[in-house]
Amino acid sequence: MRRDEGADGEQRGVDASRVADRDLADERQLARHEALHDELAGDAPQDVTACDWPVAAARLLEREQASTEDVWGAQFQAAGAKYRVPRLEIFSGQYPTACGQGSTAQGPFYCPADEKVYIDLAFYQTLKDQLGAPGEFAQAYVIAHEVGHHVQHLLGISDKVDEQRGKSTQAQQNALSVRLELQADCFAGVWGFHAKDQFHINQDDVESALNAATKIGDDALQRAATGTIRPESFTHGTSAQRVRWFNTGLQSGSIQRCDTFSTRDL
Ligand SMILES: [Zn+2]
Repeated sequence: MRRDEGADGEQRGVDASRVADRDLADERQLARHEALHDELAGDAPQDVTACDWPVAAARLLEREQASTEDVWGAQFQAAGAKYRVPRLEIFSGQYPTACGQGSTAQGPFYCPADEKVYIDLAFYQTLKDQLGAPGEFAQAYVIAHEVGHHVQHLLGISDKVDEQRGKSTQAQQNALSVRLELQADCFAGVWGFHAKDQFHINQDDVESALNAATKIGDDALQRAATGTIRPESFTHGTSAQRVRWFNTGLQSGSIQRCDTFSTRDL
């Protein structure tokens, strides 16, 4: 999701109270956060035992982030443009962002105002526990989706959508959000196409990622939350749509194939 799109993260059914005991005072939290970054950068003392971050998970995120940098850097360069790398912020509990206060309950999000991807590692536990979608590539896919929003921001697509949103009804705004989200899924697939070898992605990984896409589709989340489905309130697209657009990117490796805005058939 994009942080400025509203509270759609709440649809993910994440229960913030389960991490309430990890909700540390801001200062302490920031210190840990910095320590994690230093540790990952390899220029800090290796002793991070005081830190309760799942470092292995964080390392995977950093590796994934570097991979999206390689892939999108090359794609932009081929088009004669320069790719600006988004920063990855790993947080726990509450975290200040240029798009307002971030929290675990929102799930991962991208903030265009500071060009950062915010991830709370507790989300991955939720993905596994509540949604039954474990797997390394599934985790990587979630980052790739958020980086997809960053690419939309760099290409000016999200600005255009925001402009249109201003003159739209709520139902039209939701429809635009769905197209934006499905394109981010397609962009995640484009990353997957180019990173296949680097990440040694096999068919199992792809299925695991598609399973994650299915589990975090709006219909799956709504059904889990309310037992019913209301299509007009979808902001991410149905599970089937998410799988299809992720696959479109994954099979083609081409962002031209990700035009979710002109197609009549989502
Ligand atoms: Zn999104």
